[in-house]
Amino acid sequence: MNRDGYSAPSGQSNPHRPSAATGTMWYQCADCGSRVSINKGEHIRCKECGHRVLYKERTKR
Ligand SMILES: [Zn+2]
Repeated sequence: MNRDGYSAPSGQSNPHRPSAATGTMWYQCADCGSRVSINKGEHIRCKECGHRVLYKERTKR
């Protein structure tokens, strides 16, 4: 019962996703489509046109 080549990482096993660790999230405006960086605690609003509907940007893998 010895699986060679596989070693389970012990200790830091990434319990939570490390996203949003910086506190800044990137959104895309639903109106003008520009990228907007929203800091934590900030109101979600486009800084270009003032639109309040922003889509959460997908993270590239
Ligand atoms: Zn906009």
